[in-house]
Amino acid sequence: MCIFCKIANHEIPAYIIHEDENFMAFLDLSQATLGHTLVIPKKHQVNLFDMDDQTGSSILLFVRDLAKQITEAMGSESVNIIHNAGSLAGQSVFHFHIHIIPRYENDHFHIPPLKNELTPDELLSIQKKIKEKH
Ligand code: AMP
Ligand code: ZN
Repeated sequence: MCIFCKIANHEIPAYIIHEDENFMAFLDLSQATLGHTLVIPKKHQVNLFDMDDQTGSSILLFVRDLAKQITEAMGSESVNIIHNAGSLAGQSVFHFHIHIIPRYENDHFHIPPLKNELTPDELLSIQKKIKEKH
């Protein structure tokens, strides 16, 4: 059983913030900023690509309510919602989770600015490639 399944089953401890029948939220042990929280579906699924419809239809509402609760409690007015799907995206625990990262003035959390400036033709070619998969 994976480590987040064990947390969901209360088999190993976590700093649980909130849970209901389907989801659980607990503090990330590595606090990117103060209040950094993970939301998991209790039912094991790997990541977005593997997400079931029931989770997909309700997880964002759970995340929204929790993000409000966390930012209000921690005195923050901004938040990053991050999901890493796949190892190249930085996923290290292969049980679906969403990071809620409250942001503060002068915190040290850093998302690098996007730098690729493509020509209109290059953008069109990418647009075409992706649209064709629909
Ligand atoms: P990711 O890199 O998106 O897969 O995120 C995994 C996150 O899980 C990391 O930020 C870890 O700090 C966090 N983490 C791993 N084990 C635990 C645990 N037992 N309790 C809380 N957070 C954990
Ligand atoms: Zn799991």
